[in-house]
Parts: sequence; structure tokens; C-alpha cells
Amino acid sequence: MLDAKLHSYIEGLILERNPLLTEMEFYAREHNVPIMELEGIETMLQLLRIQGTKKILEVGTAIGYSALRMAEALPGAQIVTIERDDERAQLAVGFIERSAYKERITLIKGDALEVEEQISGHAPFDAIFIDAAKGQYKKFFEMYSSYLSSDGMIITDNVLFKGLVAEPEIESKRIRNLVKKIDDFNKWLMKHPDYISVILPVGDGVAISKRRGESK
Ligand code: SAM
Repeated sequence: MLDAKLHSYIEGLILERNPLLTEMEFYAREHNVPIMELEGIETMLQLLRIQGTKKILEVGTAIGYSALRMAEALPGAQIVTIERDDERAQLAVGFIERSAYKERITLIKGDALEVEEQISGHAPFDAIFIDAAKGQYKKFFEMYSSYLSSDGMIITDNVLFKGLVAEPEIESKRIRNLVKKIDDFNKWLMKHPDYISVILPVGDGVAISKRRGESK
């Protein structure tokens, strides 16, 4: 989102990750697995540290990269993460097993829209991180926001979708439809009567939502 020079300046200042995480970043790059962008994840982790998050629900594990980053950044925190793709879930299990955090990460295999009952047993969550099928963000938010603690936050990635939400003309019909869904979600989220949200132009665009509370 930033000017390319500034973007690489900031990325260049971010410290190297541990060897397992570096291996996962390499794997993701080589196999086109979408993991959260570096500046986006660093921003999210800092917000979680400030919050002192103890329990997180993640929708969209992929190979377990963000789950492991959260476990590393938040000592003692429990992470419940959902992945519907069998192959990715298997890879995530392998990486998590090799980490020092396997006791703190619970991977639920299945479609997030079909495993609500299993997830409810782990609630409440201090933070919910939505990073799965972009066309279904509203459904994920509606389904899982009821399991958020009263002072919790919901973090949604990819809300600016490579800047395409601000593009007036998009050739591909498939991408145009997806962009429309994200734009509709953003508008819905910003006007939500129960949540106050901000969109940060970092990484692929990260929305941070909190309950409105008294000021509603
Ligand atoms: N959070 C991961 C990270 O940063 O390391 C990246 C997640 S990737 C962007 C999105 C993942 O969500 C994909 O692996 C996809 O299979 C999964 N996914 C998409 N829709 C889903 C759904 N309805 N339920 C569960 N997983 C879903």
C-alpha cells in the first residue's frame, strides 16, 4: 500500500524469523500458499501483544504460519485455528508438531461455516482473526462474533485486496465479483451498529473491529 521504497525500507528493518518460520515462508512462496503479508502480520501481532491476548480463534490456517507467529508472540496464549483444505491442514499439523508451541495450538479441520459447535466449546476468544475465503467474510464475522469476549477484537485481513477495492474498472469478471464482495463487507463493517472498526492500509489491508460499548 505504501510507496515501494518505503515498503522495502520497513520490511528490511523487520528482524529475521526463526528457522522453522523462515522455512514456512519459503514453502509458501514456492507453492503459492497465501500467508499474511509481513507488515500486516507484524501490525496484528503488536496489537495482540498490547491487548495481552490469551485466546485466539483463527479462520483460515493455511500451513499454520500465522498461528505459529501468534503463538510465538504471545506466551501462554491458546490458538484455535480452522482449515478446510486437507492438504494444507496436514502440512500445518507437520509444521506445528515441529514447533515449540504444539500444546497451545488446536487445529480444527473443516469448513469454518460447519464447525461452529466445535468452536463454541473453546469460546470466549479475546481475538478472532478472519483470513479465509474473502467472499464469505460477512458470514464468518456474523457466525463467530458472538464468541468474542466483551472487550475482544476482530481482525480481518485482505480488506483492501491489493488495492483493487479502489479500482474503478476491473477486467476479470471473477475478480470484479470478489472485489464487490469485499467492498460490500467493508461498507457493512464500517456501519455495523455493534462494532467500531478501522481499516489499516498495511499489508493487504487489515480491519480492526471492537464492540462499540457505551458510545453506541
Ligand atoms: N492465516 C494464514 C497465514 O497467514 O499463515 C493464511 C490463510 S490463507 C490466506 C486462507 C486459508 O483459508 C486457505 O488455506 C483456505 O483453504 C482456507 N479457507 C478458505 N475458506 C475456508 C473456510 N470456509 N473454512 C476453513 N478454511 C477456509
